[in-house]
Amino acid sequence: MERSGRALGEIAVGACSAPGPLDYRRGIVHEAPNLVGMIEFPLAERLSASLDGLLVFVDHDTAMAAVGEAMAGSAVGVADFVYLTVSTGLGGKIVSGGRMLRGVRGTAGELGHFPVALEGPRCGCGSFGCAESFAAGRNLAEQFGAVDAERVYAAAASGDARAGALVARAEAALGNLAVGLANALNPSLIVVGGSVAEHQPVHVLEPMRRAIAMRAFRVPASSVMVVPAALGADVALLGSVLAARERAAGRGEWFL
Ligand SMILES: [Zn+2]
Repeated sequence: MERSGRALGEIAVGACSAPGPLDYRRGIVHEAPNLVGMIEFPLAERLSASLDGLLVFVDHDTAMAAVGEAMAGSAVGVADFVYLTVSTGLGGKIVSGGRMLRGVRGTAGELGHFPVALEGPRCGCGSFGCAESFAAGRNLAEQFGAVDAERVYAAAASGDARAGALVARAEAALGNLAVGLANALNPSLIVVGGSVAEHQPVHVLEPMRRAIAMRAFRVPASSVMVVPAALGADVALLGSVLAARERAAGRGEWFL
């Protein structure tokens, strides 16, 4: 606000995207494994209190990314799409029939923890065989012993067999996830964002397309396209601003 020369009184509403699972109606983060101390944390209330009572909306980062892509990105005007982020972690949100699927407690769309294998490394969520445990950047890097996933892809490209096997396994996991999404949800788009997808589309989007073409049911396979996200690294930031504007105006029912 200081940089833009604006005063707090000129701000209509605050927006915040946060990792989850969280309660987007009350702005409470249930649990954020990567943020110490964020257990049942009233994030919206705390932000509001530190901004002189400004109304603040908090929502899940992937929900905000899906709202951003739906309103200003790759999924404008699309009623049935899946947003998938392949980044440090794996996450997503599902929009079906023009409505975001929230589930009974608002945690729907945790696509990273969709099991895609009968066995595999233990996932951070406590389960095993999750798509995230094979294909997320952090997991790939840890399994190879590198600082980031880019090193793993680079090693695979230069012929390192162990890196090649990890990359092939990540591709297979994303392929399984894509076939499941196409068959179970029949979306017209799977919008794929996140830093790994952005830098390695050949290892992320392509295996998803191939798997759908080879193994999904014919009708859903022929009606779905796997496309890159349009809004880049700021997708959740932009989405949260759009979403807060909609909520403050009494709109946005489709994603609430
Ligand atoms: Zn998991």
